[in-house]
Amino acid sequence: MNEPKFLADSMLGKLARWLILLGYDAAYGGAAGRADSSLQEQALREGRVFLTRDIRLPEVAGLRMIVVRPEHFEDQLRCVFKVLGLKLDRARLFTRCTYCNRALELVPREEALPLVPPLVREMQADFRRCPSCQRMYWNGTHTQRTAAKLAGWGL
Ligand SMILES: [Zn+2]
Repeated sequence: MNEPKFLADSMLGKLARWLILLGYDAAYGGAAGRADSSLQEQALREGRVFLTRDIRLPEVAGLRMIVVRPEHFEDQLRCVFKVLGLKLDRARLFTRCTYCNRALELVPREEALPLVPPLVREMQADFRRCPSCQRMYWNGTHTQRTAAKLAGWGL
């Protein structure tokens, strides 16, 4: 199966952020007042799996739609992984910007050092930057904490 891409409806913003954090292309239809039908159209056009909380939405031919029933996002994440048979790939944690959903670019260490806080400069880390908002990312304790959290959720 090709790598799935997602579009989450306005109820599933946190789930979308976590999918991005896990390395998936996950768009969020959170902008106020967008009708579900317009989100469904976008998902179909862009080849995205549509994630929704709305159990009454009609099926759309050709659109893969997952009705995410659980309340808590840990369970929602597990639900999406189960339905699509996804496996967590630790190497892909934090490879996309959780604000912009863009793939991060590796930044050479010497170029990155002036851009990060002093304590981080001491770390042996890979530095990445979002090409859109220019935020810097690096792997560190939060990466390990996140991996531990995911293991705790059975992912
Ligand atoms: Zn960004």
